[in-house]
Order: sequence, then structure tokens, then C-alpha cells
Amino acid sequence: MRRSNGAKIREIMRERGNACVYCGIGMWIAYDGCKRNDRMATLDHVIPKAIGGSNHNSNLVLACYRCNYERGSMAQAEFIDRRLALGEKEG
Ligand SMILES: [Zn+2]
Repeated sequence: MRRSNGAKIREIMRERGNACVYCGIGMWIAYDGCKRNDRMATLDHVIPKAIGGSNHNSNLVLACYRCNYERGSMAQAEFIDRRLALGEKEG
């Protein structure tokens, strides 16, 4: 059975709230036909699917569109380190 990302995002948001795991921004769920927005919630795989990560909720986090886009194929730990390094520079 095929499930849309929207349903999955809603499910995880109910469990864990709507803050982006990387930047903490409050996100909203995209609806059909809406414009892309930095605060749009996206599903992010902790272990990328490309290297065998599962689609189970335990391997999924919610990230805002901007963080997901910035992370790209970077490992999650690497992205978090990079964000922290950038934060230290800015602060
Ligand atoms: Zn974010």
C-alpha cells in the first residue's frame, strides 16, 4: 500500500511536535498546490535510504524544507556539526 508523505509527516508531527530537528523552526504541512516554502515540513532519513536506511518512523525525523535542502546527501552527524560550527561563528 502506498502512503503519501503528507500522512507520514502528520503522524510524526502528532508524536513529536512541529519543530525542525535541526534549526527548531516551527513547520507547517504542505498541501497540494501550495508554493514551496522554507518552513514546509519534510521527511528526513536519519540513515539515508541510499545506504540502507529504513522507512520506519524510528529512522525518520521532520526537517524544514530549507534544512533538508541544505543537508542534501550529507550524513546527519556531519550536517549537525556543520550547523553548530556555523552557529558558533555567528554568535
Ligand atoms: Zn530547519
